[in-house]
Amino acid sequence: MNDQPTGERITVVGAGVMGVGITALAISRGLPVLLVDVDGARLADARVRIDGELRIAQLLGKLPEGTVTGPLETATTPAGAADATIVVEATTEDLAVKAKVLAEISTILRPGTPLVSNTSSIPIDELAGFARRPADVVGTHFMNPPYLIRTVEVIRGARTGEDTMLALGRSLAALGQEPIVVRDAPGFVTSRVLHPMINDAARIVQEGTAGVEDVDKLMENCLGHRTGPLRTADLIGIDNLVDSLRVLHERTGDAGCRPCDLLLEKVRLGHHGRKSGRGFYEYAH
Ligand code: NAD
Repeated sequence: MNDQPTGERITVVGAGVMGVGITALAISRGLPVLLVDVDGARLADARVRIDGELRIAQLLGKLPEGTVTGPLETATTPAGAADATIVVEATTEDLAVKAKVLAEISTILRPGTPLVSNTSSIPIDELAGFARRPADVVGTHFMNPPYLIRTVEVIRGARTGEDTMLALGRSLAALGQEPIVVRDAPGFVTSRVLHPMINDAARIVQEGTAGVEDVDKLMENCLGHRTGPLRTADLIGIDNLVDSLRVLHERTGDAGCRPCDLLLEKVRLGHHGRKSGRGFYEYAH
């Protein structure tokens, strides 16, 4: 059973790994969602993937019996976002794509509506420059899958307004997420630490020091990493990971963030991880 309705109306832009996960989380809390993607095929597939995520959440006891899910609409344009109380942008990790989406959607929204980017690494203030009202722009780095990971990294940009932070806090409470607010920087906290570490793990395999499973087992059993860095890469999506490493490398100059050849090879072959059926491991679809 859900709590009382909160009046939240969420628009999610991008129906990829994260857009689907964030939508599943929101409708599992009874909230209405408009899910937008330029790719109609992705949207058609999204409903099936959202149902799948909700089934897993139920099996794991994260979705109580009797939960009434919120209504889900899909669209190939953001025109219907005008009455949203919050918009979460979860498009490809590419500055040009996000710039265009933020510029367009910020002309549709009411002033004061939090315009949230789920970017892994691009500084929020850089993105805010593309929106009509930079004070409305803020970062929330939902982790994958959001219905299992209930802590969310919130990035306050230099121009993010106090009202935006308060409105975001209300939306995150309705989503059952616990925010940890950090300052703006390339990769913030989690991607800045995790993504170069995964790059190193892949480089270790590339250099022949150890195989994929042994690297993951050592990191899991000796160092307490929950899923191992290479299985985590598959869960993130290796294409997305490489995009994020490039963002980090360009903005920090840290050579450890330059994506290693093995990651680049996997992207070239279309071995993007769990979402494509193959990455460091193979998955039955
Ligand atoms: P993805 O590649 O799975 O999906 C991106 C989606 O964006 C695609 O469906 C694509 O069609 C859509 N898209 C592209 N241009 C668009 C536009 N102009 N308008 C609407 N939709 C558009 O990517 P993802 O893994 O879901 O990542 C989304 C964002 O979340 C990225 O910024 C990523 O860095 C971040 N992120 C990802 C993870 C993860 O584990 N995958 C975790 C945290 C944050």
